[in-house]
Amino acid sequence: MDKNRYEVIIIGSGFGGIATAIKLQEAGIHDYVILERAPEPGGTWWQNTYPGAAVDVQSPLYCLKHEPYDWSRMFALQPEILAYTNHLLDKHRLRNKIQCNQEVTAATYDEQKHCWQVATASDRLFTAPVLVNASGILSQPAIPDIPGRQQFQGASFHTSQWNHDFDYKGKRVAVIGTGASAVQVVPAIAPQVAQLYVLQRTPHWLLPRPDRVIPKWERQLYKKVPLVQRLVREWLYWKLEARMIAFKGNQAALRFFRNKALRYIKKQVKDPALRQKLTPDFMLGCKRVLLSNDYYPALQRENVRLVTGGIERITPTGIQTKQGEHLEVDLIVWATGFHAAEDNIPYPVRGRQGLLLQDYWQDGAHAYIGTAIPHFPNFFILAGPNTGIGHTSALHIIESQLNYVMDVLLKMRQYGWQSIEVKEEIEQIYNQWVQEKMQKTVWQTGGCHSWYQTADGKNTTLYPTYSFLFRKATARMKEADHLVE
Ligand code: NAP
Repeated sequence: MDKNRYEVIIIGSGFGGIATAIKLQEAGIHDYVILERAPEPGGTWWQNTYPGAAVDVQSPLYCLKHEPYDWSRMFALQPEILAYTNHLLDKHRLRNKIQCNQEVTAATYDEQKHCWQVATASDRLFTAPVLVNASGILSQPAIPDIPGRQQFQGASFHTSQWNHDFDYKGKRVAVIGTGASAVQVVPAIAPQVAQLYVLQRTPHWLLPRPDRVIPKWERQLYKKVPLVQRLVREWLYWKLEARMIAFKGNQAALRFFRNKALRYIKKQVKDPALRQKLTPDFMLGCKRVLLSNDYYPALQRENVRLVTGGIERITPTGIQTKQGEHLEVDLIVWATGFHAAEDNIPYPVRGRQGLLLQDYWQDGAHAYIGTAIPHFPNFFILAGPNTGIGHTSALHIIESQLNYVMDVLLKMRQYGWQSIEVKEEIEQIYNQWVQEKMQKTVWQTGGCHSWYQTADGKNTTLYPTYSFLFRKATARMKEADHLVE
């Protein structure tokens, strides 16, 4: 018997992979494997260990719906989120289903055998009729090709590849980029470094982070009366969901949040020149809104300087700015984000007649409910095209997608279907709707370019309306919209 043959292959052991495995087991499907390229499971929360790494969605909402957790604070730090994923792995006995150090190099559909062949870098081949990609949208670090980058003789790494062997204490450090990762790293390392330069290309809108320690009595209450925690989660969900009113382009709501952010800069930043440098000229929401209580104070420390004029080149000893200044540094931290809008499945996927997914997506990624793609039977993507969410928990989306995926899998079993794929016209109609809805959102009209978009400005990452509508759209598989064999 071929030991590498399964009913389902899952790629990635982050929240998407773990949630899929739990659902499969609940449905009585135990013949599956999770392939993970890292040496340990956990996905993004195993990978991102930079100082200050934390979630920016309230923890009671940033967990699987039926898997509440005893969170110690409202916005959990990375170690606690990783502990939660480990708790899920142990509770559901998933560890022996995960094969680590298995970087997928290709996935190819065999039309004769109706199954996927998944090759890994260690020369192993796994086969299964069903393939679930849960490799995550933010897993490919983007490091810009600034001239001279290769010549730098100090230490340098991306936020998601933090080198803990390098001791940054007392060193001169440059952080390039001022997005969600940077606003967490900067305050975390600022008190410990000798000098910190924060290189900002574009200021981002930032709001206070309503973080707090969850006191013992409250945690006890949640344990004793789980309904209370469920109600808190529900309340948080609807509170965050209301933000979508602004992102959908409601001007009054956008003004409300913009004024709040402006008041916050005014309150936290005393120097008008610095304030001006930190004030974006695009609409709030166009790029991801950042949450931080300590980023602006960190920038005003004696040993920290915001540098805004642009980078000319990297030199062997530092950074040459466009203003002609040379910043001597020992460490460059690339807080420059990820390849998300393009190239976010990190291996070639070949469907019917050898069609390459990356070719099928040459004008930007698209999928039916962000999950299924014509010509790629029995293949599902979690956190796929246009499923991103800037205002609430990404886990809400993953769990919604899994309702559809599980409905498909159970019907495949029930009716003995060998393959199923969404009809091309259905996928096209769906994506026309997505892009039409998108045109009115602040992400398209807000006057910025963001990682949500391809180089041509097409938003291939975000869902353009309320997340409860996504839950509704993914509730079940509509047979008439699919081709089955
Ligand atoms: P990001 O938001 O894409 O920010 C990248 C930063 O690098 C931006 O400031 C960008 O400037 C800058 N940059 C890119 N290329 C540059 C260049 N050539 N020269 C100078 N600056 C350059 O990346 P991120 O901070 O890693 O965050 C990505 C996403 O990950 C977030 O939006 C969020 O969804 C997720 N995330 C979540 C959390 C959390 O839950 N707490 C934490 C971290 C990340 P421009 O704005 O000018 O392009």
